[in-house]
Amino acid sequence: MNRYQQYIDGEWCDASDGQTMTSINPSNEEPWAEFPAASEADVNRAVESARRALYEGPWGSITATQRGKLLSRLAALVREKALYLGEIETTDSGKLARETRAQTAYVGDYYDYFAGLADKIEGKTLPIDKPDMHVFTTRVPIGVVAAVVPWNAQMFLAATKLGPALAAGNTVVLKASEVAPATMFEFARAIEEAGFPPGVVNVISGSGEPCGRALTSHPGISRVAFTGGPETAARVVANTASNFAVVSLELGGKSPILVFDDADIEGAVNGIVAGNFGASGQSCVAGSRVFIQSGIYNEVLAELENRARRIVIGDPLDDATQVGPLATRMQVERITQAMSEVASQGASIRFGGGRPKEFPKGYYVVPTIVECPHQEVTTMREEMFGPVMSALRFDTEDEGVALANDTRFGLGAGVFTENVARAHRVSAKIRSGIVWVNTYRAISPIAPFGGFGMSGYGREAGLDAIEDYTRSKTTWINISSEPMSNPFVMR
Ligand code: NDP
Repeated sequence: MNRYQQYIDGEWCDASDGQTMTSINPSNEEPWAEFPAASEADVNRAVESARRALYEGPWGSITATQRGKLLSRLAALVREKALYLGEIETTDSGKLARETRAQTAYVGDYYDYFAGLADKIEGKTLPIDKPDMHVFTTRVPIGVVAAVVPWNAQMFLAATKLGPALAAGNTVVLKASEVAPATMFEFARAIEEAGFPPGVVNVISGSGEPCGRALTSHPGISRVAFTGGPETAARVVANTASNFAVVSLELGGKSPILVFDDADIEGAVNGIVAGNFGASGQSCVAGSRVFIQSGIYNEVLAELENRARRIVIGDPLDDATQVGPLATRMQVERITQAMSEVASQGASIRFGGGRPKEFPKGYYVVPTIVECPHQEVTTMREEMFGPVMSALRFDTEDEGVALANDTRFGLGAGVFTENVARAHRVSAKIRSGIVWVNTYRAISPIAPFGGFGMSGYGREAGLDAIEDYTRSKTTWINISSEPMSNPFVMR
């Protein structure tokens, strides 16, 4: 059994009350790692250490260029350790090793991107309407950031928070998910090795209650960066009623993929497969509502079934595997429950719909295609967070757009068409933070990422992220040769 410790104030430690939790390997359901369950006292210590590092330690006074250099060093270390970090993440969460290794290597680019931005955060001089006043704004760090990440893409989700937060000069307490926290402790070693001063980044682990609540409601926290589900997000926002922290929320989705009659069918099928079965469907941008225009509906569905049938299910550490286990038993049960409801809701399971017989152990689900007559089917309405796609036929462009927008979420959307005018027209009408045309699930450190509606607010990545981790400060300087005038004499 691997044993992990938390990283607080530059030191490795157990929970103050000695409590621990266990991580289960989803591919064989065996406990494989033990880690601390942070108490409120641990949260307090981590937040105090982050405040000391920011307001008393060297972090608040080093130059932005030095911050950038530390981030570059971190980028190199993350790339160097990508294979190892990827394998730990796979064992802990069940996510495919070929995905975790590649994603971790690419995470290096996120740290490099923000390293480059660290000394390009500029203020403004204002053409002020008062004589003898010099007024300027600077963009300053917000303070201590509570970064709360789920288990499904931890290296990536940590990078989209820590990259801009550290580039902008904040300090961080990162709470790993209790479901699969191991990668975050291994990542903390890279933070230590890169040479960040103690307290600049603290990594703790524990459950939502008390650890997550204590952290996000802590009076010393000024910024909360949360990724997770909408129900937890509502609790996090309520927690910040006591500290008025600035919040960003990257939540789930029920993203639509629209395939028009004029689409390249092979490209569209690849997009749908990537959007639904990539990452075993455990992706916030899963394109799990698939709308196909009538003229090609049968052809696309037949090809999707063909592809789903050929998907290799297996050990997530094996490079041949295309769909691995889900992270928790609870997800499998949720999906199985939804499957038992679809027939009574008028839908039919075209392929899959349960656990694979050849894997009695492990949290596996067969890639599943559900054909729906309307959107009031559980698999169409609710985020499944597994390899389950729901398909629905539409006739006109307006009908397709209306179906796509009939959701409270708004994270991603896919549009497949060879008609450039339609591509622009439809993507402008879809209400989501990201639209992919003739592609799906592409991401970059340069492109803002985030949602509309119940998919949250705030943007991670791109220049927008730096805005989100700074605030403007206005400085007034009286440049008159005379002392300040008498306040009771108006002029
Ligand atoms: P949860 O919302 O259950 O958990 C997210 C994080 O919040 C975890 O670290 C969790 O800790 C923590 N938490 C739980 N309760 C509280 C609380 N009261 N106060 C503070 N923190 C708390 O999400 P899941 O782990 O189930 O992750 C899946 C969800 O994340 C999906 O909805 C998915 O769409 C979304 N997601 C969104 C992404 C995006 O970028 N938009 C990317 C990836 C996922 P613990 O695990 O210990 O309970």
